[in-house]
Amino acid sequence: MVSMRHLLDLSLEEIEDTLAEWGEPRFRAKQIAGWVFQHGVTDFEAMTNLPAALRARLAAEFTLAPLPTIAERSADDGATTKVLLDLGAGAAVEAVRMDYDPDEDEAPDRTTICVSTQVGCAMGCSFCATGQQGFTRNLRPSEILAQVLHFTRERRITNIVFMGMGEPLANYDATVRAIRWLVRPEGLNLRQRGITVSTVGLVRAIDRLADEGLQVGLTISLHAPDDDLRRRLIDTARGTTIDELIEAAKRYIEKRGRRVTFAYALLDHVNDEPEQARRLAQRVRGIQAHVNLIPYNPTAGAGLRRPSRERVREFQRVLQAEGVNATVRIERGQEIAAACGQLRTDVMNENAAPSGAAFTVIQP
Ligand code: SAH
Ligand code: SF4
Repeated sequence: MVSMRHLLDLSLEEIEDTLAEWGEPRFRAKQIAGWVFQHGVTDFEAMTNLPAALRARLAAEFTLAPLPTIAERSADDGATTKVLLDLGAGAAVEAVRMDYDPDEDEAPDRTTICVSTQVGCAMGCSFCATGQQGFTRNLRPSEILAQVLHFTRERRITNIVFMGMGEPLANYDATVRAIRWLVRPEGLNLRQRGITVSTVGLVRAIDRLADEGLQVGLTISLHAPDDDLRRRLIDTARGTTIDELIEAAKRYIEKRGRRVTFAYALLDHVNDEPEQARRLAQRVRGIQAHVNLIPYNPTAGAGLRRPSRERVREFQRVLQAEGVNATVRIERGQEIAAACGQLRTDVMNENAAPSGAAFTVIQP
């Protein structure tokens, strides 16, 4: 069986070209996009301003099917909702909706979606549940967009963070294609500044992203003040130095005029000593960057611990005293395994035996 192409794997221009080949007016592409992104339509038949013959041809050659929901959990009185979506062939992917900005205390009226870009991840970060699953495959643009559209059917979304499963810049083309639909007026029409791509630090891809003409935010996952420790925490970091990452950040800031964030997962007595905060500050001080501290979310088998609140606060205090802007990631959604890769791990392990709050297994 040949599986049908998903229409959202195509760009707007590619849809226009396809329509032109069919002898249809190009403007139909914008009408179709309007149905998909503004009205959440998943069936060509519902596109009532298209001629019936065109609807039939679209349905014969393309699909707009959403990804079926395997499981959904919510916490914080519904302010955090995590969904596990079915990709078929035993693969599944997570997305989270947060009715707040996880990195800003004072952010009313924000609704952030955290999306995944890969099934699993090949980067091998020792502390990450996704990394521990290994790599299965890249997501297609339509599969990234399906995570967002799952939530936009319920409410308006303001921010998107590429911080779910996988390394977005290792699935570069699909990530950028998805972003273009998210920001273009005919697509979801989101503010570019409301979108953040988080990377483990692929320097060449960071430079490529800086040249895309997009204004999206960039987060670089640093996790250590020195290369030795960083390479122990991130299996694939051997070929890259922190200096190279800082230089790439500077180029991104220069080209895009956007602040860069350094993410730092805090691991008890591994990378959370005040002396390490001082060395980190010395390296990132003076560039338009800020450090986002993420207290470690324990994952099975990593043998790592989350630092105490006091240690987290002390690390932040030292960074600030050294002149570096530092925030601590808001801790919510703990009971629904909101950390990257954890819901998938949980559901695969427990299957039909829900333990936490508000957990439903939805039968496909
Ligand atoms: N692959 C990208 C984006 C996905 S991970 C990246 O690594 O940046 C999003 C963020 O969550 C990264 O900063 C990552 O280091 C962090 N993270 C992963 N597992 C974590 C855990 N168990 N506890 C705390 N932070 C974690
Ligand atoms: Fe991959 Fe990011 Fe997890 Fe590292 S932290 S294994 S890069 S998803």
